[in-house]
Amino acid sequence: MENKHTLSDLRQMQSLPLSAKIRMTEYRIREWYEAFEGNVYVSFSGGKDSTVLLDIARRLYPDIEAVFVNTGLEYPSVRKFALSKENVTELRPRMNFKDVVIKYGYPIISKEVAQTIYEVRNSKSKDKTVLHRMKKLDGKATDKNGNLSRYNIPQWKFLLYAPFNISHLCCDSMKKKPSKLYEKAMKNQPIIATMADESFLRTTKWIKNGCNAFNLKRPQSNPMSFWTENDVLTYIHENNLEIAEAYGDIVVDQKEQIEGQMNLMDFLGDYTDCKFCTTGCKRAGCIFCLFGITQDLFRIYNLQKQEPKLADYVLRGGEFGESGMWQPSKEGMGYWFVLDWLATHGIKIPYENAEHYRDTYGTNRNRILLTIK
Ligand code: SF4
Repeated sequence: MENKHTLSDLRQMQSLPLSAKIRMTEYRIREWYEAFEGNVYVSFSGGKDSTVLLDIARRLYPDIEAVFVNTGLEYPSVRKFALSKENVTELRPRMNFKDVVIKYGYPIISKEVAQTIYEVRNSKSKDKTVLHRMKKLDGKATDKNGNLSRYNIPQWKFLLYAPFNISHLCCDSMKKKPSKLYEKAMKNQPIIATMADESFLRTTKWIKNGCNAFNLKRPQSNPMSFWTENDVLTYIHENNLEIAEAYGDIVVDQKEQIEGQMNLMDFLGDYTDCKFCTTGCKRAGCIFCLFGITQDLFRIYNLQKQEPKLADYVLRGGEFGESGMWQPSKEGMGYWFVLDWLATHGIKIPYENAEHYRDTYGTNRNRILLTIK
């Protein structure tokens, strides 16, 4: 199938003013709604992006259903906020996070990296895909022009030797499966607030399928694909939209403003081209997730400040399972060991009370594994 767009289409659309983006998003929601005669729903996580999407969708169709997957991994305030909205259907995954991690592995670094490690470690035959993934880890995969691929990840090859399982399958179990079952039962098609800018994978998917992907096996609408994070923050600020407490407030990012400019903006009430930020969490996705952790090194440290009990649960515990790999135990998720092992390989993710976790849950074997690089 021919690509729907090019990368320059995306850049051009991203450079449009917010008012134009809102109109384009409305157009795509209408197109989706009409194509499926109203049998559609908004995938609502309680996060800021899907809060904006729900607001736009309900201005067009006030009765549109929102669906929230209660994974147990959200900030408590995000869950509370999501369930406080009207006409929200709550879904729950069959497996809990601990069992998912024991079965498949820890979600660390990024979905792409975790998938590559998981598939190279777990495939029995060396088929074309696995060979390609191995080449990526060796830094030798090439693109169609024979140049080294931008998707090469030799810096993560050491994860092949991690003494714990790593996987990309958590999202599938915790979020996708419940949504797919709901879609099958209700015959409703999803509208999702993902943005192409969030990852290479999302950009590539958008270029291939566009915003309203009717032709996919699981059709889905991503009508905010060409928005940026600042667009979302601007929309919330301009519309005084209520968001989950975990984000704090949306304020002008002082680091990005020229001195004196801010007072003028407040005085004129004109925030065009203004950069906004949150005073609380930057992102309020799954609190225990270690995807994207290298761009957000203080995630666990901040969680210790904001939700100390939850942070303690995720850090403490852990044991070597029958397979010889580290995994969650009755006491907790055992992240302290995963973080310490990453630190011995140069990925330093800070957290408080490290000594306490090592002393309480560590064994001689941990210490040997943590010192071997
Ligand atoms: S975002 Fe992370 S923790 Fe949440 S379901 Fe996906 S992989 Fe699991």
